[in-house]
Order: sequence, then structure tokens, then C-alpha cells
Amino acid sequence: FRKKTPTPAELVEGILAGNITALSRAITLVESTNPKHLSQANEVINSCLSYVKESVRIGITGVPGVGKSTFIEAFGKHLTSLGRKVAVLAVDPSSTISHGSILGDKTRMEELVKDKNAFIRPSASGETLGGVARKTRETITLCEAFGFDTIIIETVGVGQSETAVHSMVDFFLLLKIAGAGDELQGIKRGIMEMADAIVINKADGDNIRKSNLAKVEFNRALHLFPTKKSGWTPTTATCSAITKEGIPAIWETILHYIKNTQSNQYFFEKRATQNQYWMLETINEYLKNNFYNHPEIVPLLEKNKEAVAQNALSPFAAAQVILDTYFKK
Ligand code: GDP
Repeated sequence: FRKKTPTPAELVEGILAGNITALSRAITLVESTNPKHLSQANEVINSCLSYVKESVRIGITGVPGVGKSTFIEAFGKHLTSLGRKVAVLAVDPSSTISHGSILGDKTRMEELVKDKNAFIRPSASGETLGGVARKTRETITLCEAFGFDTIIIETVGVGQSETAVHSMVDFFLLLKIAGAGDELQGIKRGIMEMADAIVINKADGDNIRKSNLAKVEFNRALHLFPTKKSGWTPTTATCSAITKEGIPAIWETILHYIKNTQSNQYFFEKRATQNQYWMLETINEYLKNNFYNHPEIVPLLEKNKEAVAQNALSPFAAAQVILDTYFKK
């Protein structure tokens, strides 16, 4: 890999040979916003697809400060101690604005970053959440072809990024802490509904009692939701990412989930549906970008926005004019 730009075939060869530099470069290619790289990236991903091994994909969310990085470090180390190969990816739409991802931050996962059986990659940055999420979805394929059998996707519990992450994982884990009200934790009902497990972190020291109470409460709340298509009843647990208490049990729960949903086929159906979702998402995103960046559409949009604001044209008529121009009617 001294050569400046390896070909897609060379990247695939490198990934399959376990060359981490090749993996990183392939991810960079996938993340590139240069349209010239698109077909090369697609070539790499497509070639990798047939080498993807069995894997478990886990989504982890929770508001900032709940302990996601600390948890992933402890959980990841536990997994590698069991002989698993762990890739940690992140979906952080805010990284576009802040230019420094707080998720998947290597400096906060010091032990894991040194582990030769772990790979940590911060969030891609991009213009839209859809773009960032799609790139992470594609990165999963590269990591799995490389040989990572456990993929952890971290996201932050404040926006729509959960829905995107939920659409690329098998198991969705919501991290919470005791004592903070639901409003304070910024967790919307919808996010709780997505969870396959709620884990109350920081259950150590003086916090243990409060955490156990919170667990009972969340358990009660979860039972108010309708039964899931997976047939799985979401579980609640407490843990401490610092003392590591409760960490092994969380992995046991996930294994249990995988076993159950593989035997009732839900696991495979969900992955198939997710693939279809990402195909449609990619089309939606491409169409939108193409439309909003079209040289004829950009000035027309501006002109009609003005006209609509002044009531000179109805919003519907204005939209129709623009669409007709785009579709050359
Ligand atoms: P994130 O923003 O969700 O990624 O949270 P961090 O992993 O950065 O943790 C936020 C703070 O909580 C840090 O100061 C951690 O040391 C602390 N923390 C994380 N997990 C635990 C835990 O299990 N117990 C205690 N007592 N503190 C924790």
C-alpha cells in the first residue's frame, strides 16, 4: 500500500488478507464525497459482500454523559476476551457541524483501541444524516468481510439518528442512568419502543439502589408497549462500565436474543427488510441531491420561493412548475 491509490481490487484483496490499512482506506473511499469515487466504492462493497461472515450487529444509544464510550470500552474488552472480533462504528450527524465527532472517540476507549481484535472508526461526516448513516451501513459490510464478527454502532439519543441505526442492527440497546427524569434524558417514547434492552449504567457505589429501582420502573414502562414482531420481550438490566458488574450478562442477553430470533426466522427477515430499506434510502438520497443541486432547478427554486412568500403563486402551483422543469414536461 505504498502506492498512492490502490485499485478497488487491491483494496478487496487487502481486506480479505486482514490488512487493517486496506480496511481503513476502503472506508475512506466509501466516505468520500467525490462523485468519482462512487463507482470504485460500490465495486469494493459489492466484492466484499460475498465474503461477509456471520455477525452480530448491535446498536447502542443514550444521551451524552450516560457512559456510552465507557460502556463500549468495557463491553468491547469483554467480547474480545471471549475471542470475538469487534468493530465499533458511529453515526453522529452533528460531526458535520462540530468537525469533531464525540462518538467513537478513540481517546475515550483507550484499552479497546490498543486491542488487536478491535477496530474503532469515528463517525463519517456528511451533509445529511441519511448520508452519514448510509456510509456507516456500507462500512459494516467492509468490516464483516475483514472478519469482524461483532459490530457495535454508537449513536446519540437526541434525534433521528436512532431510527437510522435501528435500521442497520440486529439488537438495539438503550443506555440510561438512574435518577434523571425521562425528559432530562431526552429519550423519546419512540426510542424506547425500538429498544430490545434498556441498561441502566453507573450502577455502582451509592447508585446501586437507585439503579435497581429505575430498572423496575423501566421494566414496567416497557410492558406497556405492544408485543414486538421479533417475539422478544425487551429486557432491563443494570451495569457499571467502571466496575464491569453486569457487563457479561448483557452479552448473554444478546446471545439469547440472537438464538431466539434466528430460530423463529425474524433475524433473517429483518436483515432482508433492512437491505431493501437501504436500497430505497440510497435512491431517495440520490434523487434529492440530484434535484436540489440541478443547475436549472437551483435558480428556479429561489425565484419561486420568493413568489410563494409573497403570495404571487400558490405553493402547489410553484412546486408543479419546478417539478415540470425537472422532469422536462
Ligand atoms: P458518553 O457521553 O455517553 O459517551 O459518556 P462517557 O463514556 O464519556 O461517560 C461520561 C462520564 O460518566 C465519564 O466521566 C465516565 O467516567 C462516567 N461513567 C461512565 N460509566 C460509568 C459507570 O458505570 N459508573 C460511574 N460511576 N461513572 C461512569
